[in-house]
Amino acid sequence: MNYIAAPDRYSRMEYARCGRSGLKLPRVSLGLWHNFGHEAPYCNARDMLLTAFDLGVTCFDLANNYGAPFNGSAEETLGRVLKEELRPYRDELIITTKAGYGMWDGPYGDFGSRKYLMASLDQSLKRLGLDYVDIFYHHRPDPETPLEETMQALADIVHQGKALYVGVSNYPAELTAKAAELLKGMGVPLTIHQPRYNMLDRWIEDGLCDVLLEKGIGAAVFSPLAQGRLTDRYLHGIPADSRAASSSPFLRKEMLTEQLLDKVSRLNDIARGRGETMAQLALAWVLENPAVTSVIIGASRPEQIRENVETVQKHVPLSEQEKSLIRSIITEEKI
Ligand code: NDP
Repeated sequence: MNYIAAPDRYSRMEYARCGRSGLKLPRVSLGLWHNFGHEAPYCNARDMLLTAFDLGVTCFDLANNYGAPFNGSAEETLGRVLKEELRPYRDELIITTKAGYGMWDGPYGDFGSRKYLMASLDQSLKRLGLDYVDIFYHHRPDPETPLEETMQALADIVHQGKALYVGVSNYPAELTAKAAELLKGMGVPLTIHQPRYNMLDRWIEDGLCDVLLEKGIGAAVFSPLAQGRLTDRYLHGIPADSRAASSSPFLRKEMLTEQLLDKVSRLNDIARGRGETMAQLALAWVLENPAVTSVIIGASRPEQIRENVETVQKHVPLSEQEKSLIRSIITEEKI
């Protein structure tokens, strides 16, 4: 228990209200999808978490299935860091987890039944060593389970005190609106949505943002750097220690097309002209969307977290001219 948090941590970050709730989230949150399971060095995972907290990143995003070599190992890593370092700071932290993707064998370990959500959250709490999480999400829509059942499970989880707030992830606009109405009828607000959003994937602009703003639901958006593609990481080849070079099935080398790299190189020039890095421009662009509460970044080393958090400190809003130039680059035909 040697860790003492940086005394100036709250001067380094901005916090935004999550929709119309009482909850404020850091503009930059840290996700534990990659590089936090037992396959990754524990010291690096711990250093990333403590670096983030020292920079005012109070929100750590998890799901039941994060981590390798087995699902849940990222929750175990955070559980250990909480136990050994961050326990005194529990009330300064927003810990989130989710269930919705395949977690265990048989009919009760996937999608959105009450049976799955209740059992999964209990397992997550054990791995984390916590009595409650701050936000519990349903991870993806379930085409078979009635939405009423899934939302009732979320509402009951709040009533049981196992989560303070609930959210949905990857839900399209119309289903989000229905989920919010159902939950409202159960006396529990739909506080937050977690969709993918970045310069290369703007689907939320087509309806979902309107629903979120109208209903007062916040948004913590994932993969704001398109898993590293919207950084300078791949501008001069594929580094051996990068996600694209790893065995992760989510970012394959073929996704780094010449056309994409040409776009990123031009965006990088805009960023440099502003005294920012490519990653900082990509994050700032996402954060300028009024529906976005927080960007959930991933990282493989503490320096990336420092660079990304710096966005909040140094970003000057984009001018109309810069916005239109960026728009013209990112809307060129499909990558
Ligand atoms: P990002 O788009 O932020 O990509 C993170 C990766 O980008 C890092 O691992 C690193 O790659 C690279 N990177 C980050 N910062 C920099 C930098 N400054 N310079 C150069 N490269 C950089 O996010 P993720 O795709 O990792 O997703 C973030 C989080 O979102 C997840 O951890 C998870 O919590 C959540 N998520 C939620 C999903 C859902 O369905 N709800 C789905 C996916 C993610 P490298 O490893 O190569 O260094």
